[in-house]
Amino acid sequence: MPTKTIRSKADLAINGASPAFAELLHVGRPNIGNREEFLRRVNQVFDNQWLTNNGPMVQEFERHIADRLGVKHCIAMCNGTIALEIAIRALGLQGEVIVPSWTFVATAHALYWQGITPVFADIDPVTHNLDPSAVRRMITPRTSGIIGVHLWGRAAPIDELQAIADEHKLKLMFDAAHAFGSTYKGQTIGRFGACEVFSFHATKSFNTFEGGAVVTNDDTLAETMRLMRNFGFAGFDNVIHPGTNGKMIEICAAMGLTNLDSHDEVVAINKRNHAAYTTALANIPGISVLPYGSTEDNSHHYVILEVQKGFAATRDQLVAALQAENVMARKYFWPGAHKMKPYRDLYPNSGLLLPNTEQLAERVIVLPNGANVTDEIIDIIRSVITINIH
Ligand SMILES: *Cc1c(COP(=O)(O)O)cnc(C)c1O
Repeated sequence: MPTKTIRSKADLAINGASPAFAELLHVGRPNIGNREEFLRRVNQVFDNQWLTNNGPMVQEFERHIADRLGVKHCIAMCNGTIALEIAIRALGLQGEVIVPSWTFVATAHALYWQGITPVFADIDPVTHNLDPSAVRRMITPRTSGIIGVHLWGRAAPIDELQAIADEHKLKLMFDAAHAFGSTYKGQTIGRFGACEVFSFHATKSFNTFEGGAVVTNDDTLAETMRLMRNFGFAGFDNVIHPGTNGKMIEICAAMGLTNLDSHDEVVAINKRNHAAYTTALANIPGISVLPYGSTEDNSHHYVILEVQKGFAATRDQLVAALQAENVMARKYFWPGAHKMKPYRDLYPNSGLLLPNTEQLAERVIVLPNGANVTDEIIDIIRSVITINIH
């Protein structure tokens, strides 16, 4: 795919040369498993003549996920956002709920959409996850819960958040959208808090086209969420709970079952690439690749580059230079949820309490990862970064 070697500023597309790559190299390009297996399952769906409504594929998918994560219940949903909304409602959250601003905006939206006020707490600039002392500072008499996010698949400080929740009688749940297959102190993510919510969106390390799930060991909570997912139906004609339509369809479950088979391979490729990026970009002043803890596993799906003030170009100049070469690097989660219009209107000054979030939002670039990334690609990305692009 590379079309040229970059040796000097004049070779850069941003300076008028042709892009290094003929095709766009996207962040979050989907991981697609064995096509024949998927199509075999699609044929099975047609043979079953059961397209949705808790069909056999969804039931099999839920069993596989629950077994793999070591949790009692998996409730598959149409996407991660609806899964968050249903979990929030089933837990009875209300008033204010503490969340990071340094996350995908859906974490905050899932609350606000339901008339609950997201209260943003600052993060630890080293881990990018919630800072427990910042969470403590945001508790008020109206606080009903905390939603921790395992950002970039790295486990949030679960024990510390659980201690705060217990002390203040708050509900704790996790947005585990990035954390499929991650571990915390040797235990798989999925068993922590009251429940954990996954997204299986196409851009995540493991996908079902669109999809999500709530996993929990709480029987009552699981039962409530199953009802809510299907309009509150407890059987034909018998509605016993308010509900919505959060169902996963059979084709999505078929994709999930197929992709589960290759997820370990995807993770191995991501880890290899992450290590290659880390080596290639080491010793460049002002540039660092976020390391993941050696004692906690994660999919290494996200390669996070931090551009410090000392670097020769700004973060935005670097993103522009990479994109000019067709490396579609992204500024996740710029500018931070608290600066997006609905929440900026709600809290014009919230940035004062979020200094680490604001600084990181100006520094981070997400680089492409997955099976399409090769050493040659990483080498060209290195050249773009190391050539002074001023
Ligand atoms: C992707 C994502 C979601 C939303 O999941 P969808 O399946 O896209 O609805 C929620 N939270 C975080 C942190 C995410 O990255």
